[in-house]
Amino acid sequence: MESEAYRGGCACGALRYEIAAEPLMSGHCQCRDCQRDSGTGHASQMAFPLAAAKISGEASFWHKAADSGNIIARAFCPTCGSPVYSTNPAKPDLIFIRAASLDEPARFRPQMVVWTRSGQGWDIIDPQLPRFDTMPGF
Ligand SMILES: [Zn+2]
Ligand SMILES: [Zn+2]
Repeated sequence: MESEAYRGGCACGALRYEIAAEPLMSGHCQCRDCQRDSGTGHASQMAFPLAAAKISGEASFWHKAADSGNIIARAFCPTCGSPVYSTNPAKPDLIFIRAASLDEPARFRPQMVVWTRSGQGWDIIDPQLPRFDTMPGF
């Protein structure tokens, strides 16, 4: 069965992607960096094989060391500021896409919550999902 590519982009449409693969991992991240750059309690992310992703448009990058020490490159649109994707040198074959940037966000199927250690009491996520204090080695 061939499934439809995952397409999406930023709020203004200048930064777009198309990914011809299924996500390898999907989940919510409650780390402080995801809280700050989303403006709310977590970021909802999907990991895809980087080789399957085609990016169009200019991204700006915010480089920040995660608690692991890895420098995460967070790509956002220079015009509208939407966070769209990120890459992590510890997972060089993957690209992490923000779920709500999808043209069809209902395709996001979260499997876990990570970094619950810094989760906020007001950020209530599906209690059925497995929870991890930090980032499990997936
Ligand atoms: Zn934009
Ligand atoms: Zn995070």
